[in-house]
Amino acid sequence: MICPHCLQGEILNARIIKTSELIKICDECDTIWNISETVSDNTGSLIDDFMKQRNCSSSWREFDIVKS
Ligand SMILES: [Zn+2]
Repeated sequence: MICPHCLQGEILNARIIKTSELIKICDECDTIWNISETVSDNTGSLIDDFMKQRNCSSSWREFDIVKS
């Protein structure tokens, strides 16, 4: 699925290693969606905000990519 924010990136399923939380993340602009959230251009969170709320850094090292 192509990201509705940047219209370039691919949306990947991932897991936050520290919290085991499943998310979707754009591999281009790093927008994050909760796994239950509908992916659209008026949903999604900035990686910095999302990860700060969980006391994690805004790094892809915090994620395990889930192969679909
Ligand atoms: Zn994107």
